[in-house]
Amino acid sequence: MQYRVGIGYDIHRLVQGRPLFIGGAQIPYVKGLLGHSDGDVLLHAVCDALLGAIGGGDIGQLFPDTDPKYQGIDSKELLKAVADLVREKKYTVNNVDTIIVAEEPKMLPFEKEMRRKISAILEIPEDRVNIKAKTSEGMGEIGKIEAIASYAIVSIVPRED
Ligand code: MG
Repeated sequence: MQYRVGIGYDIHRLVQGRPLFIGGAQIPYVKGLLGHSDGDVLLHAVCDALLGAIGGGDIGQLFPDTDPKYQGIDSKELLKAVADLVREKKYTVNNVDTIIVAEEPKMLPFEKEMRRKISAILEIPEDRVNIKAKTSEGMGEIGKIEAIASYAIVSIVPRED
């Protein structure tokens, strides 16, 4: 089978006065992720994993943070654009597995919403999108609640139609 895989990683700084978006879900918290877009670190990792799988470069090449067009953009729009590229290449997403590394806040209450939103954009069943959350055990910039990181891995398969 002509399957392909891709890997993605991202990290964003946590700052006061920004809403927190992770996996397309808005999570009530005292800080949010700094970024040219909405800073959704998980969706960015998924975008990079998909781009990796199709040999499409990376999110920074596709959506440069110097371009005012992407200022404050909802990262779900970026994922939609990347999903379109996967379809254009005549592939469909087989599955997505992810890790969020965050000391705070708790991600589990939002896991279902993240799965629902990501699977809807990728047009795959929810059980093909997996979200795992880890802390950094108080160590480093993530442990000190100065940043949140995410990892993603995807597999894609040729479209049947
Ligand atoms: Mg990013």
